Amino acid sequence: MSDKTIFQKIIDREIPAPLVYEDELVAAFNDIQPQAPTHILIVPKKLIPRVGEAGAEDQATLGALLLAAGKIADKLGIKSRDKGFRLVINHGRDAGESVPHLHVHLLAGRQLEWPPG
Ligand code: AMP
Repeated sequence: MSDKTIFQKIIDREIPAPLVYEDELVAAFNDIQPQAPTHILIVPKKLIPRVGEAGAEDQATLGALLLAAGKIADKLGIKSRDKGFRLVINHGRDAGESVPHLHVHLLAGRQLEWPPG
């Protein structure tokens, strides 16, 4: 039995999901249960279970996740200050993490509340 995460299967093209962005280090696809009109997950190709478990050797990958977010926002036309987007990383149970493969949520397309729930 494969012990790949669901996101690893998407990255490896074993589960179909159109990629909205891909580079050497990360891939991005739409969240299956969107919480906003735009809800994209940006995922490292290397399995890092959660952000607090990343090491110094993951610095380039962590940077690539945020740079990808900016590029996706640019492509979607939401990078200007009068529009905008939110990035969320859930680490662990109290934060609501449900998939143990680091991912950045990119949310946009509606007024997002603060503080978050
Ligand atoms: P988190 O709760 O931060 O771990 O986020 C996991 C996210 O993965 C949730 O927003 C889910 O809706 C999303 N998700 C789970 N399975 C899939 C899938 N097969 N394709 C796309 N998104 C998924």
